[in-house]
Amino acid sequence: MASRKPLIAGNWKMYGRAADLAEIGALTETIGPAATNLEVLICPPAAFIQSAAWQNRAGPILIGAQDCSPSAADAARTGEVSAAMLANVGARYVIVGHSERRQIHGETDSLVRQKAEAVVAAGLTPIVCVGETQAERAAGKVTEVVGRQVQASVPGQGAFVVAYEPVWAIGGNSTPTLLEIGQVHALIRETLVGQFGAQANETRILYGGSVNPKNAGEIFTVDGVDGALVGRASLKATDFSAIIRGHPAAA
Ligand code: PGA
Repeated sequence: MASRKPLIAGNWKMYGRAADLAEIGALTETIGPAATNLEVLICPPAAFIQSAAWQNRAGPILIGAQDCSPSAADAARTGEVSAAMLANVGARYVIVGHSERRQIHGETDSLVRQKAEAVVAAGLTPIVCVGETQAERAAGKVTEVVGRQVQASVPGQGAFVVAYEPVWAIGGNSTPTLLEIGQVHALIRETLVGQFGAQANETRILYGGSVNPKNAGEIFTVDGVDGALVGRASLKATDFSAIIRGHPAAA
């Protein structure tokens, strides 16, 4: 039986200022020993990663990034930040293929895979996001879309995390039912086992999209859900710590 350490990750998106890093300090105080049996990660905007990682170098909260360049080597790429640089300043995980990157910046599965592989090459762990739109769900294409995204976006080797984030559930108030979440997580697991064999049972699969202190507890009970990727409710330590403490593995 695979033992997968739960991961609860916060994605701050393009919110916050340097002063808001104090929320991470407040989070450390409120979660206390709860973080022993699970991993807690905050992905602040790129501008604040270095100071966040420095502030938390001895603490239980891990720091990650929200995106990176697909180029593993140093290169003339104005405006880009490489995974190696993120590793250099203390990041541990990098989110890749978030639906906002796929939709607003036109990122394809193959670009997301390149980014994920650059993250692995830098010694970090990519969190590869997948998920269907409302229209794809309405057309009965969840299996097809999510299956294709998983097959084409995850790195060919190295450890990674998958985050199932239905696009329509992000930034709103609705989530799939627990049954639907469980079904898609099972589909993702099956797809990964088809690609990588039994070792894919070690891969963590997170749920993301409108996770909040009220619904987190029940989402965490769904078979195959190894944690969460949280947007809005990760910005304030009070909300995020309530989510973390709602996990059955929290001490
Ligand atoms: P949300 O965002 O929790 O605010 O819905 C989740 C995400 O985009 O990762």
